[in-house]
Amino acid sequence: MLKDQDRIFTNLYGMHDRSLKGAMKRGHWNGTAEIIKRGRDTIIEQVKASGLRGRGGAGFPTGLKWSFMPKQSDGRPSYLVINADESEPGTCKDREIMRHDPHTLIEGALIASFAMGANTCYIYIRGEYIREREALQAAIDECYDAGLLGKNAAKSGWDFDLYLHHGAGAYICGEETALLESLEGKKGMPRMKPPFPAGSGLYGCPTTVNNVESIAVVPTILRRGPEWFASFGRPNNTGTKLFGISGHVNNPCVVEEAMSIPLRELLDRHCGGVRGGWDNIKAVIPGGSSVPLLTKEQCDDAIMDFDWLREQRSGLGTAAVIVMDKSTDVIKAIWRLSKFYKHESCGQCTPCREGTGWMMRVMDRLVRGEAEIEEIDMLLSVTKQVEGHTICALGDAAAWPIQGLIRAFRDEIEDRIKARKTGRISAVAAE
Ligand code: SF4
Repeated sequence: MLKDQDRIFTNLYGMHDRSLKGAMKRGHWNGTAEIIKRGRDTIIEQVKASGLRGRGGAGFPTGLKWSFMPKQSDGRPSYLVINADESEPGTCKDREIMRHDPHTLIEGALIASFAMGANTCYIYIRGEYIREREALQAAIDECYDAGLLGKNAAKSGWDFDLYLHHGAGAYICGEETALLESLEGKKGMPRMKPPFPAGSGLYGCPTTVNNVESIAVVPTILRRGPEWFASFGRPNNTGTKLFGISGHVNNPCVVEEAMSIPLRELLDRHCGGVRGGWDNIKAVIPGGSSVPLLTKEQCDDAIMDFDWLREQRSGLGTAAVIVMDKSTDVIKAIWRLSKFYKHESCGQCTPCREGTGWMMRVMDRLVRGEAEIEEIDMLLSVTKQVEGHTICALGDAAAWPIQGLIRAFRDEIEDRIKARKTGRISAVAAE
């Protein structure tokens, strides 16, 4: 189990003083100027050496991403944009950082911006996160008053401004290029890539978009050393990580743990176990609603990291673990996700705009058993036609949960169709 002294987030549950004074007492903002004086290249090398991979879902190496930013300006400014548009069903980890430990994020924003040659950073926060915005803005104001932001920020010699921008509550604005469009005041519709944001991002300038947690862990990594961070987890899956566990566990929570922790240990140690015991698991979605579910058999051996879950054709995503016990109508649960993605599609590309609605309508009939057996394969084939054929990953996110369902629970779907046909209505749990 991760020891308390190895936790990066020292006030995740809001039990302590979240103000600047309290944060400093817990070791944040300690030696920030000295870290910055190590220089851009050293900071990027150290973040690379820590093995930190993006915490927003894709798991791209953070240091490598930073290294794509231009070393010399061609006259255009560079920007860091922090993605705080946390909207994936089941995911609520960044919320805890912003409302209880905001100084980790602000200090990280300064250091990361310096490493990328950005004098300006925007945090784009989800529309529904009103209290979180208030907490974060109060912390930003405190930092300006204390000279930690603004000209010669934290006496580092670097001028740095940090702006908090409130979104309007659209899931798609969590996609990095849609976020940039929205920040520019346009409709939040994803852009085609290339060009990638590092070449042409916000206002056509070099931009890096990082998740809240990815940035908030950086100051502690640099203070304690990349080796310390890399000592947790398995190779290529290092560090500590916030896990958000919801659903049928006795004590749903957000907790910081070492990467690569076995799923069973995570649930037993921090969540009081699965409701009704471990054997009562029906399925677990391990990484937020867009990744395929794991069956009970997979859960028995599950290791919570990027590579293990990818080998299982699922994913760590945002590490939002949704536990479903045997009382769950799993077909209906996935239908609900289909409905979500249909609602959140921006409508820009045909496979996603039409496909999400089509998939949702078939899922709707599968829940009630009002379908033909052949339609299961037809649905699967439509998910394959959506997957990988859209501008952004929302199409994949809509397709994958259904693929996972069919892979693991085809029998149950077929049984429900047969039950409907033969009048065995009791099997139709959704009604
Ligand atoms: Fe919009 Fe969907 Fe296309 Fe993404 S995949 S750009 S959400 S229509």
